[in-house]
Amino acid sequence: MSPRRTLLPTSTTVSVDNERCHLYGFCQVAAPNLFELTAGERLRYVSHVTEDHEPQARDAARQCPMQAIRLSGQVTE
Ligand code: SF4
Repeated sequence: MSPRRTLLPTSTTVSVDNERCHLYGFCQVAAPNLFELTAGERLRYVSHVTEDHEPQARDAARQCPMQAIRLSGQVTE
């Protein structure tokens, strides 16, 4: 019998579609430590989110009215 393999999430990758993003800033309100609108009207964000910050990233993605935020998980065996 082979040992059971366990998939462990290590981090979540965040990407923002610049074509969709209209800089409304909902993501910054939902997750100020992950998203920041700069004075130059650009969106800066953390692209690799650790597991403990993942709920905030998901909340930001949910609140984005343009559905511009994409999250994808990375797993290791
Ligand atoms: S909430 Fe969405 S549209 Fe607004 S700044 Fe964030 S990513 Fe862009």
